[in-house]
Amino acid sequence: MDKDARIYIAGHRGMVGSALVRELDANGYRNLVVRTHAELDLTDQHAVSRFLDDVRPDVVLLAAARVGGILANASQPARFIYENLAIESNVIHAAYRANVDRLVFFGSSCIYPKLCPQPIREEYLLSSALEPTNDAYAIAKIAGLKMCNAYNSQYGTHYVSLMPTNLYGPNDNYDPQGSHVFPALIRKAHEAKIAGAPMLTVWGTGKPRREFLHVDDLANATRFLLERDVGEGVYNVGVGEDLSIRELAQCITRIVGYEGELVFDSSKPDGTPQKLLDVSRLAEMGWRARIGLEEGIARTYEDFLSRYGVLEA
Ligand code: GDP
Repeated sequence: MDKDARIYIAGHRGMVGSALVRELDANGYRNLVVRTHAELDLTDQHAVSRFLDDVRPDVVLLAAARVGGILANASQPARFIYENLAIESNVIHAAYRANVDRLVFFGSSCIYPKLCPQPIREEYLLSSALEPTNDAYAIAKIAGLKMCNAYNSQYGTHYVSLMPTNLYGPNDNYDPQGSHVFPALIRKAHEAKIAGAPMLTVWGTGKPRREFLHVDDLANATRFLLERDVGEGVYNVGVGEDLSIRELAQCITRIVGYEGELVFDSSKPDGTPQKLLDVSRLAEMGWRARIGLEEGIARTYEDFLSRYGVLEA
């Protein structure tokens, strides 16, 4: 891809969007276009149309979304389905109208059925019922993926969908109620260490299995596909290995340096029993994730400390 290509990154202040900006910037892409939420509300159809007609990017990276952990999804399903459907339909349709030939849509591994065979292949989409704790979000993300396929088929565009597994990294959300498990445990372990707390509470039974990808690896996979001119299809992006929430909690507390006891609050939901992506589609093309979990936890904890400036006890 031409280093002068005009690339609009929707959601550049979020975890995925900011990783895309870092990756493209570091690799010589000189023509990145971004807008803050205050400058452009992506749920406003007319504003999005005007913006894309005006800017006419060569490529759109659609990383803007309403996202959150298991509790946020379960308690605000209307917000998750409405905002995501609005953002996707506004951006994808306006991109097509503005003759944008290439677009990358970012979904999530929660689009796959609750009781999916593991590891999850892209073809398992819509083969059985979804996990109820985040089905509103999942339906919106499935709609975005189907829109990309539909526009490719009817209008000959080149819109690709990437389905990352559970992500973590810089600019993550550390809000105790709204966050995902990875940032939640980084924060809980740090606060428990500082407070000298005897116990740290982990939600659910600790038995569900999840796979974790550093967001810089997702950004790298995106550049990989763009530079190979991949113009359609759905690609899982993950590391190909999972672990239980208990094992994740043990690993994070060890790296953060918290030595108290882990207790499991089974009144909180477990969600899907396992989410492990089959990543062979990208692996066969020659891409693999590079940041291992231990290195990723250490890097994320450093980033957490630098952002929140929390002093050691
Ligand atoms: P999911 O992958 O869509 O289910 O979303 P999450 O990342 O929010 O949760 C993953 C798993 O981690 C679930 O089984 C949660 O119950 C469990 N978990 C354990 N402790 C926490 C926590 O403090 N916050 C969150 N969000 N999940 C937790």
